[in-house]
Amino acid sequence: MEETFYRLAPASLWLAILWLAESFVVVSPPGRWQHGLRNLGLAGINGLFLFFTLGGVSVWIASVSPFAPASAWAIPHAVVCFVVLDLFSYGWHRLNHAVPMLWRLHSVHHSDEHMDVTTAGRFHAGELAVGALLRLPLLYCMAVSATTLLAYETVLVLVSMLHHSSISLGRWDRSFRMLISTPAMHSIHHSRNPSHFGSNFSSVFSVWDRIFATFQLTNGPISHGLENADGKSLRSLITMPLNQTTPPRPTSNTPAKSRE
Ligand SMILES: [Zn+2]
Ligand SMILES: [Zn+2]
Repeated sequence: MEETFYRLAPASLWLAILWLAESFVVVSPPGRWQHGLRNLGLAGINGLFLFFTLGGVSVWIASVSPFAPASAWAIPHAVVCFVVLDLFSYGWHRLNHAVPMLWRLHSVHHSDEHMDVTTAGRFHAGELAVGALLRLPLLYCMAVSATTLLAYETVLVLVSMLHHSSISLGRWDRSFRMLISTPAMHSIHHSRNPSHFGSNFSSVFSVWDRIFATFQLTNGPISHGLENADGKSLRSLITMPLNQTTPPRPTSNTPAKSRE
């Protein structure tokens, strides 16, 4: 119960702050509230689903791992685990774009035409479940503690809300993206423009896109969403992966177009 509070409290507060900020600095698209409630409804269903399935296993698995470090190494171990968890997120995200079956699930996230802070919660439960399942061996082998996992997932949600928000950080974006994935970076990841495909997969730390040459920036206008994707209702978001008319997005190993 206490853990649920620590998960929800910072995310709820940050959601409210960014939603309000978007209200003041961005022209609201029509149906903004319905769009936001739909995305958050999906996030709520996913949260409940994971809470009663793999969420508990992910927290428990470190306690049965024989690889837990001596207490003197607890802090360095936690830092290494935090970074490796983010590397896993980067690799998992790339896999979602490369494997057609996984793309069907991930396309729910990319189908959002009006990206805002609530897009951070627009994922299909199947994508989250498969990702959590594939991550279990890593949690076991690294003996990732429940505290480290909670810290990583909290930071992940906060950074994800920021980089999905429609707020421009302006000249500050450059400073932020030296460390984390920013709105300017992630907006390109959601672009409909094929020359932007295959870029900016980082979840928290932006360094992965720089290391694996998937970092890209642009000054031009960007439109978001997917062709033929109907995400106008909660039901359509849940059934979207089964919809044969939604074309898989081509995967591109586009090299970085711009560096800084
Ligand atoms: Zn993606
Ligand atoms: Zn995204």
